[in-house]
Amino acid sequence: MQTFSPSKKKFDLDTLFYRGANYHGVMGKTKGTFFVKIKTNSGFTNADYLVKAAELAKKYGDGTLERTTRQSVENQGVPGTNVDKLMTEIYASGLATIGMGYCTEGLVGQGRLDIDEEKFNGCGRCAELCRVDAISIVLGKSVIDSDKCISCGWCIRGCPHEAVIETERGYTMWIGGNDARRPADGILLKSFYTKEEIPGLIDAVAKTLVKYKTKAGRERLGNVMKQVARASSLMRCWLRCRGKLTVYGSMRGWWLKDHLLLYTARR
Ligand code: SF4
Repeated sequence: MQTFSPSKKKFDLDTLFYRGANYHGVMGKTKGTFFVKIKTNSGFTNADYLVKAAELAKKYGDGTLERTTRQSVENQGVPGTNVDKLMTEIYASGLATIGMGYCTEGLVGQGRLDIDEEKFNGCGRCAELCRVDAISIVLGKSVIDSDKCISCGWCIRGCPHEAVIETERGYTMWIGGNDARRPADGILLKSFYTKEEIPGLIDAVAKTLVKYKTKAGRERLGNVMKQVARASSLMRCWLRCRGKLTVYGSMRGWWLKDHLLLYTARR
C-alpha cells in the first residue's frame, strides 16, 4: 500500500487540482510553487498595469517579479492554493498572461517611403542613418536602392528636414522564434503586410498549429512550422521526382514515402 509522509501529503493536496487546471501562462516549479507569466505589449505597459502586477505578486506570490527576455513579468513563488484566486483576479483586472489573445512579439513595423523634393537639401543624414546602405546621394539627390531597402523607417524618423515621407505603413511578420532554453530564429512569413491583413494571418497560423501539432498539450509553434515546411519541401521534391524514386535506393525511398504519408494524412 502506498504511504505518504505528512509533508508529501500536504504537497499533493496543495497542488493536485492546480496542475490539472492548466491555465495559460502558469508554470509549475519545484516545492509546489508556481510562476505566472503576465504578458506585456512587446515590453510596453502603462504604469497601472505594472502596479497591479506588483500588488498581485505581494498578495499571492512571494513578492518577486521577474522581467523575462520574452518581455513578460513573472509573478514568482505562488503556492498552489493561490493559483485559482490569482488567476481570477488577473482576469477581472484586465491583465493578460502569456497564451491569452494575440502575441505581437513577431510583428515589426515598416514604412514605404518617398522623398519630398521641395524639402530635400542633400544633407546626407538619411544615408548616414541607413543601416543597409540603401541610400546614396548622387548629384545632390537621394537615390534609394529598393532591392536593399528593408522599409525600416530610420531615414523617415531621422531626417532633420522632414524630407523623407512615409507613403504606406506595413508590418513584417516573424513566427516561431524564441529565446528560451532552446533559442530558435523566427521564420519570416513575408514583408509588408497591411494592418488589415494581420488578424487573418494570425488566424491562419493558429489553425495551422492546431492542425499539424503532434503533442496533446502545448507545442511550440516553431517546431510545428518546421515540420510543415519540411513536409512541404519533401512534397515538392516528390512531385519533381515522381516516378524516379527508385533511383534513390529503397532505403531513401521508404523514408520519403513515410514522410509523405504523414504529410498527406494530416491534410
Ligand atoms: S527605410 Fe530603412 S532601409 Fe530603407 S532607405 Fe530608409 S533607412 Fe534605409
